[in-house]
Amino acid sequence: MAWAPERKRAEPTPRDLRASREGRGGRGQAGSGTSGRLEPRAWCSREPPLCFQIKNNMIGVVIGRGGSKIKDIQGTTNTKIQIIRGDSEAEVKIFGSKDMKAEAKAAIETLVKKEGRSYRSESSVENVVPSPSVARGSSRENTDKEARPLIDWDQVKAEVLEWEKRKWADLPPIKKNFYIESKATSSLSQVQADTWRKENFNIVCDDLKDGEKRPTPNPVCKFEDALEQYPELMKSIQKAGFKKPTPIQSQAWPIILQGIDLIGIAQTGTGKTLSYLMPGLIHLHAQPISREQRNGPGMLVLIPTRELALQVEAECSKYSYKGLKSVCIYGGGNRKGQIKDVTRGVDIIIATPGRLNDLQMNNFVSLRSVTYLVLDEADKMLELGFEHQIMKILLDVRPDRQTVMTSATWPDSIRRLAQSYLKEPMIVYVGTLDLVAVSTVKQDIIVTSEEEKRSLTQEFLQSLSPEDKVIVFVTRKLIADDLSSDLSIQGIPVQSLHGDREQSDREQALEDFKSGKVKILIATDLASRGLDVSDVTHVYNYNFPRNIEEYVHRVGRTGRAGKTGISVTLMTRDDWKIAGELIQILQKANQSIPEELVSMAERYRLHQQKRDMGRK
Ligand code: AMP
Repeated sequence: MAWAPERKRAEPTPRDLRASREGRGGRGQAGSGTSGRLEPRAWCSREPPLCFQIKNNMIGVVIGRGGSKIKDIQGTTNTKIQIIRGDSEAEVKIFGSKDMKAEAKAAIETLVKKEGRSYRSESSVENVVPSPSVARGSSRENTDKEARPLIDWDQVKAEVLEWEKRKWADLPPIKKNFYIESKATSSLSQVQADTWRKENFNIVCDDLKDGEKRPTPNPVCKFEDALEQYPELMKSIQKAGFKKPTPIQSQAWPIILQGIDLIGIAQTGTGKTLSYLMPGLIHLHAQPISREQRNGPGMLVLIPTRELALQVEAECSKYSYKGLKSVCIYGGGNRKGQIKDVTRGVDIIIATPGRLNDLQMNNFVSLRSVTYLVLDEADKMLELGFEHQIMKILLDVRPDRQTVMTSATWPDSIRRLAQSYLKEPMIVYVGTLDLVAVSTVKQDIIVTSEEEKRSLTQEFLQSLSPEDKVIVFVTRKLIADDLSSDLSIQGIPVQSLHGDREQSDREQALEDFKSGKVKILIATDLASRGLDVSDVTHVYNYNFPRNIEEYVHRVGRTGRAGKTGISVTLMTRDDWKIAGELIQILQKANQSIPEELVSMAERYRLHQQKRDMGRK
């Protein structure tokens, strides 16, 4: 098939043309031998070819079934047509007399237009015969602009989908739903279930699926309600001495065991690890293919730090089930040993993203067999900059897997992550933002500069009465140390609480503050978790926290147990990102909103808008 499209190559040389004329078949001469009516005069004339581009997907249209169309055009116009496929566009070269080339081109254009797709009409380097549209008088510039092809996104998308389908075509089906609701669970009335949730850390559950919402399953109040059919797991739980499921477990199990993707907003210490591990073990063992056939890990837990990874691994081995094997892969650990572990065959991988990505890129581990994925402490993973590695890892995990994500907070970045990697998830919050408590606090916001913070803080501390008790929150240990030594030098007794202090010093600091020996405690968020002092009258945010949830948490340290409290928050222009969210919180709690904060939020909104426009 002489006209068959081929990869782009050099112009035919006069030698090629001569060879063709002499019947030696010059390279790539379209149409040679396909049309007996082709006059050698046209073919070998010194007339340069008329060249233009069509989209690759139009080649077939021009050629026609069995070459019928192109033969026709060549025959009726006495030309020779060559089509050379390029990366996205094909070059069409028409050899022949000036008039006939134009006629052949017009015929091709008609075919392409008829197909309803745009194409680009561009002339060859020299002595171009103007296309009919140009000849009709429209300017060349205009023609180019009008005819320039748009990217056919529908086709690109269709090709990606097709490629995706092929990529995962050989994988076995997944089984996801194993839930049989117990009698006790199904007999709970709506009111009973709601009351139970309220009394158990104020659990809130929501369906993030678009359209009609699915009913929230009743919580399981006893282990047997979820695990009765799995005596091995029941035994491990009994061995661990646990009395009943924690709140997150109660609500997460019936959701995950139904095969629904889940987002758990819960802190470490709430029993969140078991909330995804138990259903994961059940899922893994119940897959339709054997472990040998699966040929790779079935469960993957991505987790931000080595300590957490080891903690989950320890938890995993405690509840060993059906001999499922787990390995822990983390940066800083023995790489060789970890490679040996994964290549030996394993069911569960618990990994930090960096190291796993390294092993994956070097083909030591394939993640195609993973059907149950956990993104544990997702907010921390983003904070540590793992987003890119997570993305690369998940490109190799089948898209129809079941996914569970946990996070202590629920900011925009985590919402976006959830949107990318979970499908129609449900979300369970445990211990949601205590906005009621916050409404008992008068929240003052001061927009200032970094330089003014010290003097403002001193003024504030001097204005306190002897009965007042204040926690000053800072973001970094260094600031905590600096500020507390500053105040101590001035003879103001303070204590500080941060992660770098010895445990005994931290306990002493807390004790001094609780007993009232010192009235000022300077603390970082890390150290203040779980801090429960009932008579704090003021919270002073020297730095704005990392996110709005943390702000609410801090503010909630005062105004406790029916008392009222005051919070003062210093903000600088660097905090503009959070201004919008803060305004919402202040509005909900009926607080006054300073104008500077409103304009800060507006500036950030405009900045975002500009950036988005730039991207587009
Ligand atoms: P986590 O939030 O996953 O870090 O769990 C915190 C601790 O709670 C771990 O030591 C678990 O072993 C423990 N734990 C998990 N589930 C329960 C439960 N139902 N009852 C009591 N302790 C539990």
